[in-house]
Amino acid sequence: MAKLSKKPMISGGHSRRWWGGFLFVLTAPAWGWSDHASLVWPLLREQPDIVTRSVPAESLRQFLTAEQNAIAQTLDDVEVWAAQNIAHYPLTPASLSWRNSSGPIVERFLSAIRVNPSLSYPLYVGPSPERSNPVVKPLPWSSLSFLGGGSAQQASRYWSLTEGESVSVAEVLATASDEPDLGMDIGLFDDNGTAFGQRYGFGRQPFGNPNLDYGSQAPFHMGFYHLDWLARVAQPDLQRTYPLWRIALFGELADVAFRTGHPYWGWRFLGWGLHYVGDLTQPYHAVPLPGVSTLQALWSVLQGKTSEMVQLVSNRHGVIESYQYQRLKAALAAEEWSAPLLRAVAEQGNTEPLEYTSFVMDLTRASVAAASEFDAVIATHVSPRFVSDPNFEWTGSGFEVGLVDTVRRERGQAAVTQLDAVVAEQLERFSRVASQWIARGHLPPEEAAKRVTQQEAVIANE
Ligand SMILES: [Zn+2]
Ligand SMILES: [Zn+2]
Repeated sequence: MAKLSKKPMISGGHSRRWWGGFLFVLTAPAWGWSDHASLVWPLLREQPDIVTRSVPAESLRQFLTAEQNAIAQTLDDVEVWAAQNIAHYPLTPASLSWRNSSGPIVERFLSAIRVNPSLSYPLYVGPSPERSNPVVKPLPWSSLSFLGGGSAQQASRYWSLTEGESVSVAEVLATASDEPDLGMDIGLFDDNGTAFGQRYGFGRQPFGNPNLDYGSQAPFHMGFYHLDWLARVAQPDLQRTYPLWRIALFGELADVAFRTGHPYWGWRFLGWGLHYVGDLTQPYHAVPLPGVSTLQALWSVLQGKTSEMVQLVSNRHGVIESYQYQRLKAALAAEEWSAPLLRAVAEQGNTEPLEYTSFVMDLTRASVAAASEFDAVIATHVSPRFVSDPNFEWTGSGFEVGLVDTVRRERGQAAVTQLDAVVAEQLERFSRVASQWIARGHLPPEEAAKRVTQQEAVIANE
């Protein structure tokens, strides 16, 4: 749960569409399951080969310099695949192509993959909850992100790594799974007031308020792949979401890094991809308005009640991410590995190979299917002032840390039990897809090479 203090604005922002107010909900910060690193830890600690294995840290510059040609081929392949498989995919402008561009190598790469280039993507790690912190001083938050940092980030501690230093695979993966929330996807659109946003070719921000810094990452961390026809017609911009592209891009970069003998970057890219996989298991990241049908949404527009509806959904989204974070954090701190929520994350192992599109479509379909009930349980069991009052703003309200106690006091232990149960259902889904994703890093080099060849064959056949 990492909320920034700024409040979302209720104005429709740049949207000129008649359904503009509907989009407000999407200006809520898209942090996903908060603190992805601690979320995935109960799963990683069950995998001995990941926990015991270490790799030498390697700077991004070193990796890029060593593998320019292999990276060029990978990025070409991903671009062709994305153009063919992702509706509304904005092609990478030719001037940004890794093959054609010139200049400092790291800057060229960041432009070619279209991430925020003002971050330094340094060598760093967050120690696991089961390891004591290094004795040296941690990195200041400001050296990792330009964002203010919410409670989850401030509670996290990161340490610098030196080139060649040995680091646990589990810690690389967990640390990297938080990284896309540090600002990587912020400011990428034309109208975000950044120079790189004007070069990247993503067009105007499809939803959300372009003036809010964290709001602009939403279209990369939310995926509305199962909108009904009415929503697609009434609000076509909701289809311009890109987590599938990020997942495939980082999955392929991980593969090329593993294949060419750069396991640190293999695991780090895999961790970046894992972030988006995790976000999409959160129902509020897969459905614009859980519990509200498109017809109901239209009806509330006609009644002039759009902002009330979206405020409630936004608050429930924030509340449940706070709740989940507080519950997991307490169980992790107490090392209660048999607590039901930690077991839910640990026990759903799945190592089947995956194909990006069907993987993402299946997991988001399951998130969509869970959304209404999830929303209803939250509305029923959380204190009404947090989730049923359209005049209340959860973000920045200051109630995050005490949320579980407040629910217990005001709604009883039974409410906590019900909320735990519904959160556990989402965590089981997270665990299944996260373990499948992480299993990509287990493949020995020959296997990985075989799979890439198969993918290329698929591309060639399409
Ligand atoms: Zn996210
Ligand atoms: Zn979220």
